[in-house]
Amino acid sequence: SQSSGTAHHYGIYNAEKDTQDTQKLSLMGDLRASMNKNEVFFHYQPKIDLKTGRMTHVEALMRWIHPERGFVAPDEFILLAEQTGHIHALTAWGLEQTIDACARWREAGYRLKMAMNLSAKDLVNRQLPDQIQRLMTEKRVSAEWMVFEVTESAVMQEPEIVLDTLNRMSDLGLTLSIDDYGTGYSSLSYLKELPVSELKIDKSFVLSLATNKNDQILVRSTIDLAHNLGLKVTAEGVEDQVSAELLKAYGCDVGQGYYFSRPVSEEDLLSYYREQRQAS
Ligand code: C2E
Ligand code: MG
Ligand code: MG
Ligand code: MG
Repeated sequence: SQSSGTAHHYGIYNAEKDTQDTQKLSLMGDLRASMNKNEVFFHYQPKIDLKTGRMTHVEALMRWIHPERGFVAPDEFILLAEQTGHIHALTAWGLEQTIDACARWREAGYRLKMAMNLSAKDLVNRQLPDQIQRLMTEKRVSAEWMVFEVTESAVMQEPEIVLDTLNRMSDLGLTLSIDDYGTGYSSLSYLKELPVSELKIDKSFVLSLATNKNDQILVRSTIDLAHNLGLKVTAEGVEDQVSAELLKAYGCDVGQGYYFSRPVSEEDLLSYYREQRQAS
């Protein structure tokens, strides 16, 4: 298609598409090679309980440092993995990593819940709940320590299969969270039919909270509505103190964003945790 808006012109329409596909496959080959080295890894971003100011959760965010291109944004390489059919391998690798990290942290006495993102394609994989259960058993992590973030658009694509997957995950005792809330078209009352207990307000409503009155109204009423439906609320994209204080005043449960911490390496995350607990 012509949709990519690339600056390159190969003359013939099909040739251009072929070239794009070849480039995708070759980049995907690089990703697979990187998975076996330390070029794909996770950074972890603290999620802060706004009542106590303590980090209680972390979100695992996948990183890829390509040997020649350098940093590739996860939005980009995850889409690539979805388009080339490699997302299952990437997710399987990610589950192994995050559940393993969760096990190590529990063993060392860190009380941190681990949240991992799942893509739309993961949710139509009927093997996913068993896969997660197998890893948790193997690494002796109990379900209460794992959270999975799914976007509303992912749920809307094939609602029946996805609902079945989510129900099976919920039956395992896992916490499910709706990510990027507000960017899709689904109503909160529809989402309430899903076995989710948490809602993450998308950062586009939070980034300018301190100064934007419309965002203040939207965020505040979303928090109230979510609470009335029995859901916990996280705000992502908290970048300044005023926004953090507003969210706390609105009764938002959890805050996440650069104001508290950027996504960091495991080592930095755990030292941040230790500092926090020593200070209080
Ligand atoms: P997400 O799950 O909504 O993750 C939150 C994104 O917001 C992250 O971007 C995070 O770095 C960024 N963020 C956090 N706080 C702030 C802030 O205060 N200001 C701003 N401007 N941004 C903030 P990141 O790491 O680039 O990830 C982008 C997306 O890629 C994620 O969005 C998620 O959808 C996807 N992703 C990341 N890791 C994985 C993974 O392991 N599996 C899957 N399926 N998707 C992943
Ligand atoms: Mg997320
Ligand atoms: Mg999000
Ligand atoms: Mg997002």
